[in-house]
Amino acid sequence: MELPVIQGIGRPGAADDAPILGIDLGTTHSLVAVYRDGRPEVLRDEDGEALLPSVVSFPADGGAPVVGAEARRRAELEPERTVHSAKRLVGRSAADLRETLASLPYRVVDAEGEMAVVDLGERTVSPQEVAAHVLRACRRRAARALGLDEAKLTRAVVTVPAYFDDAQRQATRVAARLAGLEVVRMVNEPTAAALAYGLDRKGASRVAVYDLGGGTFDVSVLELEDGTFRVVATAGDTHLGGDDFDRAIVERIAAEVREEHGVDLLAEPAARIALLRVAEEVKKELSRNDVAEFRFHDPASGLLVRRPIGVIEFQNWIAPLVQRTLDLAARALADAGMTTSDLDEVVLVGGSTRVPLVRAAVEQWFGRVPHARLDPDQVVALGAAVQAGILGGKVPGALLLDVTPLTLGIETADGAVAALIPRNSPIPTSAGETFTTFVDGQTAIALTVVQGEREMARDNRVLGRFQLRGLPPLPAGLPRVEVRFQLDADGVLRVHAREAHSGVEAEITVEPRHGLTDEAVERMLEEAWAHAEEDLEARRRADALLRLRTDVRSVEKHLGEARRGLDKDALIRLEEALEDAQDLLEETAAGEVPPPQRVQGVVDELEGAALPLAELLMDRVVTSAVRGRTVEEVAASPAPRTPQDEGNAS
Ligand code: ADP
Ligand code: MG
Repeated sequence: MELPVIQGIGRPGAADDAPILGIDLGTTHSLVAVYRDGRPEVLRDEDGEALLPSVVSFPADGGAPVVGAEARRRAELEPERTVHSAKRLVGRSAADLRETLASLPYRVVDAEGEMAVVDLGERTVSPQEVAAHVLRACRRRAARALGLDEAKLTRAVVTVPAYFDDAQRQATRVAARLAGLEVVRMVNEPTAAALAYGLDRKGASRVAVYDLGGGTFDVSVLELEDGTFRVVATAGDTHLGGDDFDRAIVERIAAEVREEHGVDLLAEPAARIALLRVAEEVKKELSRNDVAEFRFHDPASGLLVRRPIGVIEFQNWIAPLVQRTLDLAARALADAGMTTSDLDEVVLVGGSTRVPLVRAAVEQWFGRVPHARLDPDQVVALGAAVQAGILGGKVPGALLLDVTPLTLGIETADGAVAALIPRNSPIPTSAGETFTTFVDGQTAIALTVVQGEREMARDNRVLGRFQLRGLPPLPAGLPRVEVRFQLDADGVLRVHAREAHSGVEAEITVEPRHGLTDEAVERMLEEAWAHAEEDLEARRRADALLRLRTDVRSVEKHLGEARRGLDKDALIRLEEALEDAQDLLEETAAGEVPPPQRVQGVVDELEGAALPLAELLMDRVVTSAVRGRTVEEVAASPAPRTPQDEGNAS
């Protein structure tokens, strides 16, 4: 068999020297950093400010969106048009977010495709769009700080929480794209923190990262493997953070004022925001001093509140919150199958770890002094910059991890691509997925390995084909073909397939030769972007048609039994649905291209109508299948068992 070529295992950033940005896209703050002069460095604005509030305000007068500190000030003017915490909404639906939504001053609704968007009245804004404004502000800040043309800054390492799922990561990528940035690597926030402290090179193998930010807490356990940190376990609470400390202060003060003066400070939403602002300052002061004064002038009642708060008092208020973080740390360690004594290092991340009580509690609970030398607000951004430096070849002695420039996957029976290794995965890497057969009694399957970003296999590059033969003749859907991709450090891809019931296996190795040039990779990516929408539509249509063909075939085969066993209404519904489905298949065979929604509608109706039949057949088919007989044999029962040695490969 001919061995096809896989290559283009690129080294992003090797070619030109505009720096790759390291961006911490935070819930409350974002930062941008670069690696220069041999170290990571956070870039500041003209006022020397490193933190950029992740807030975007959309003025009602239709003026340009305002980002950062100024947007944060506008929260009091136009709370319902000022979006903070958009990271909480990214890649989620409003239904996922019930708890979050209660605390947001702006309106969130589900857009088409059931993704949460902010409703401004005259239009909606997606969380990606909000994130894109923040990312663009980071990019602009970097251009100014570095004295470079913004157009040159096109690549970034962006950090995301370890618990982000694919949809959330994908949405973050889209946000970066909107801001004109290509995400060359997405790094988990705890991993970035460990990189910032150089723990990968200190031989530390097990690290806990405790991250207490403004609105979220998470704790992760990392393990070093082949020079990279892998997240072994993570636990957290997306509604626990420094903001709760602020609220604890405001609630106490408001309760006291209510009792003493009969005044409700919290009546006005704007006053509430102002009170929280004061509380945050008091909290920060208490990280430096033993006492701080809470001072607030209530515009509604004219009351001037002045109340000294001692650090011990404050600690009592927040102690239950801190305890909750430790309970979560215990859970993460248990999930990792470790105890505190298995850990080599503990790292503190997040502005709220400046609170002395938090530090002391972590130190005591973990039984070791945590890393806290770096600014806890900046650690993640610094780590992103270290990763950017490594990718840009600027960190001497660092293991330069390559990434796959294009997605690697398998062509499925409907001509779509099942992606196993997404592009930009660091190598070496491996991935697996289970497939099944498409036709009853199928004894061989063809596996086509493809590379590229398009949804349909035919638009991508074929790297190799091979067959898995000698499968037991089972009804479609029962065999379990486990396909494993292993991409080694030299970019050699080994694809291994094994059927679980029979143990039949086959494999192919695809070796690097003169592969794709950088330009070829670029072109493939550009095409994928250009075709994203139509691709998705084609894929949905192909998936639905495949499903329809399988359903039609199986209903046709069992029509005799349906006529014998189903009641009249069920049978009529089934026959009508079958007829519609057959008509649609004929139309497509004649070259018509139906919209995917229509195909899906026909599939849904046929599957609904076939339910009673499926129930009828279920017992017999399943029990017989276990004995290795095919559906034909069962349906034609009693019938002689004929060994099938030559399958109809799809
Ligand atoms: P996120 O990652 O959620 O964006 P950060 O890591 O930036 O959050 O942390 C922000 C939180 O840290 C805020 O609640 C802020 O009040 C708190 N914080 C910042 N500095 C201090 C300090 N000196 N003492 C106590 N809390 C602080
Ligand atoms: Mg953070």
